[in-house]
Amino acid sequence: MPLLNRAAELQNEAREWRHHLHAHPEILYEVHNTAAFVAEKLKEFGVDEIVTGIGRTGVVGVIKGRGESDRAIGLRADMDALPLEEITGKPWASKSPGKMHACGHDGHTAMLLGAAKHLCETRNFNGRAVVIFQPAEEGGAGARAMVEDGLMERFGIEEVYGMHNMPGMPLGSFGIRNGGIMAAPDKFFVTINGRGGHAAEPHMTIDTIAIGAEIVGGLQLIASRNANPVRSVVVSVTQFHAGTTHNIIPEIAHLSGTVRTHDESVRNMAEARIRQIAAGIAAAHGAEVTVEYERACPVTSNHPTETRHAAKAAIDVVGEQLVNDDVDPSMAGEDFAFMLQARPGAYIMIGNGDTAGLHNPAYDFNDEALGYGISYWVRLAEQRLTE
Ligand SMILES: [Zn+2]
Ligand SMILES: [Zn+2]
Repeated sequence: MPLLNRAAELQNEAREWRHHLHAHPEILYEVHNTAAFVAEKLKEFGVDEIVTGIGRTGVVGVIKGRGESDRAIGLRADMDALPLEEITGKPWASKSPGKMHACGHDGHTAMLLGAAKHLCETRNFNGRAVVIFQPAEEGGAGARAMVEDGLMERFGIEEVYGMHNMPGMPLGSFGIRNGGIMAAPDKFFVTINGRGGHAAEPHMTIDTIAIGAEIVGGLQLIASRNANPVRSVVVSVTQFHAGTTHNIIPEIAHLSGTVRTHDESVRNMAEARIRQIAAGIAAAHGAEVTVEYERACPVTSNHPTETRHAAKAAIDVVGEQLVNDDVDPSMAGEDFAFMLQARPGAYIMIGNGDTAGLHNPAYDFNDEALGYGISYWVRLAEQRLTE
């Protein structure tokens, strides 16, 4: 296996860090202990410059190579967990009720720490490797907060790279593609105001449940009838709240859901159609409706040159057979999109093997992937900082 020998050794250490982080998950920007742990490790490794509190609770470490070059590349990991009750039963399972590392950000943090340690020991590059540990990836736009806090300018970052584990992709494999790799994840909220009343007298009411159900049905037509079939869109209604008991027709109903797209024109179309469909159906029944549509983050769009650099580093680690450079894009969102808007870069998927899916209460990051991820980061930094 063309893993860095040292990375294989580091894998054991990274496993311990990962288990510690996994047992102590923190949510969104509240990653205080995680950030402190990261900063302490970076100090221990001899990282040249450590800055905390970027984007509220983000941590950045700068590792200087040999030579005079001032070139810098950014390597990014996310640190936050999810509000979910863990059911893995693993010895390192969450000790915080209702919080869990169900997206593998514990593994991402451990891999980047492993790479930072190796890069500090070897310094086999010319320039600066900037390791970025961000908070609030899970819906808090932590990446944007760090960018707005001057991340790129303060550290002179010229290119930026991200990585996420993918359950179902074989262990030791990587997947990447030029252009959109992760979707723009938007949210919508529909509130229907009708006229409540006795369930035995429906003719005296404006039934928000019947209207809501019709709207749910109508929204299904966006993907099947409105979107160009060769362009992807997901419209999922995920919440429908109304009513208090069996014999009252509720005055108000609330729907909400998510829209996922890879294309700005499809995204605009989906928003416009949600508004039209909700307004049209409500009007047809004499109800009032409000629609709120929130754009979370843009499409995570890989830049062509940096995609090639990332694929090359991955091929160096695992060989061509295990690197798919035309991987299917995901409809999940990723706030690394904001970093890719600020600087050219690329986001790569790393195989997590046959594990439970992301955001599932039985999910656990695969420790066997740590060595591959560490090796990838090290190779990428060394290759991009050799000129
Ligand atoms: Zn996630
Ligand atoms: Zn994630």
